[in-house]
Amino acid sequence: MAQANIGVIGLAVMGSNLARNLASREGNSVAIFNRSYQKTETLLAEHPEAEFVASKTYAEFAASLSTPRTALIMVQAGKGTDAVIDELLGVFEPGDIIVDGGNALFTDTIRREKAVRETGINFVGAGISGGEEGALLGPSIMPGGSDESWVTLGPILKSIAAVAEGEPCVTHVGHDGAGHFVKMIHNGIEYADMQLIAEAYDLIRRGTGKTPTEISDIFTEWNKGELESYLIEITAEVLRQMDASTGRPLVDVILDQAGSKGTGVWTVQTALDLGIPVSGIAEAVFARSLSSKPAQREAAASLPGPSSQVAGDDESFIEDVRLALYASKVIAYSQGFDAIVAGAEQYGWNIEKGEIAKIWRGGCIIRARFLNRITEAYAENPGLVALVTAPFFVDVMTKTQDAWRRVVSGAAQSGIPTPAFSSSLAYYDGLRADRLPAALVQGQRDFFGAHTYKRIDKEGTFHTLWSGDRTEIESVGSSH
Ligand code: NAP
Repeated sequence: MAQANIGVIGLAVMGSNLARNLASREGNSVAIFNRSYQKTETLLAEHPEAEFVASKTYAEFAASLSTPRTALIMVQAGKGTDAVIDELLGVFEPGDIIVDGGNALFTDTIRREKAVRETGINFVGAGISGGEEGALLGPSIMPGGSDESWVTLGPILKSIAAVAEGEPCVTHVGHDGAGHFVKMIHNGIEYADMQLIAEAYDLIRRGTGKTPTEISDIFTEWNKGELESYLIEITAEVLRQMDASTGRPLVDVILDQAGSKGTGVWTVQTALDLGIPVSGIAEAVFARSLSSKPAQREAAASLPGPSSQVAGDDESFIEDVRLALYASKVIAYSQGFDAIVAGAEQYGWNIEKGEIAKIWRGGCIIRARFLNRITEAYAENPGLVALVTAPFFVDVMTKTQDAWRRVVSGAAQSGIPTPAFSSSLAYYDGLRADRLPAALVQGQRDFFGAHTYKRIDKEGTFHTLWSGDRTEIESVGSSH
């Protein structure tokens, strides 16, 4: 007997919290299934208040859903997802909807959508951000799939998403892998944002000698202004935490080797394929890699560094760091949106950039006040070629760039590593340069590989006879 309008498969931490979130919303009745029945029993026992319809087999699960059947898969990404899809294809019918809410690589989602579509069943790849708490209280959701599936799925996802300024943090991102692609970029930006905040902390700590508690107060203050965001807020909390066993700041007893689950790497690999410089994100990924090489770091500890630290007035230095953080953050987002534009073009998705910034305002890890400015920038000019060139952000750069340069040069002189701050500034200067030394690179490529070049003053493709008399000839072949 069909009773439920939505089902959840996979009742580990994310799935059970999403099932509870769904069950708590008016109008939803939630079918639940887990491979091993024990997790289903636990959820039922711990939450008798929720109206769940539990099943022990996939056939029972399908029978418990009203049509079109809609199932949200929240299992271990990869093989787990494929296994569940195979099972559902045996019990679902054309018109039904399978949603993968796990952390899938978007190319896997494209592959799965294509295969599932052939059966007449809809497949939606939905990026879900916000961790355990977001899943329970309201995540930011980035679904990609057919227009048909969105008709049924839209109201259900809107009912459980985070709400920011009265609007649910979910939108139909685009077809097939678009949702997981955008979620991947979200995570890439998250990597950059976290690294930038960590560099700001390190600069203040080493530049002024302030304690983690004092720096926590600085971040709390910053969170009242234009940098207001979840990541700044939790940074203040982490810095304030004291270790119970040693009495020292917790940040001083945590091993300084950062881990990752791979979505930052996916972002950088994808951006490399698309030819989009996401240097802030890449440096954040590399910084985690460097931190996790204890043998190299130990061997390199005796390498020479600067003999003196750049000294200055604490208050103005801290304000410089704040402005440098703001400028670098704008670059990280600008680069992330460049990757979204390039991905949309490559895979044929119609992605509304302003809508993406909107659904990141709540529920997700990079939620921040300044996302509204991004939405406004794309509303004013949907064809914006680089976010950083929107009037609001030009204004930010005007206000911040001097401080940013002081911070990066001071850090270099003091031997404080700021890979994300520095690379973002180099990107900014590269982007705004009148002429780039890429002309010389083209000359070098033509010299050793006859790769040809174009000229600024006439049409055509040219090659200089470097090993001959060095005259220039017009090349009829294509340049590479
Ligand atoms: P998880 O530890 O990634 O996965 C455990 C769940 O997967 C269990 O319910 C397990 O069932 C099931 N499973 C594994 N292989 C299976 C198979 N072959 N067939 C059927 N079920 C299988 O769980 P999670 O941390 O809740 O995450 C779920 C998904 O959400 C993942 O894709 C994850 O990447 C994504 N995600 C996680 C977070 C987070 O903060 N944790 C945030 C966003 C997205 P059994 O109980 O039978 O073993």
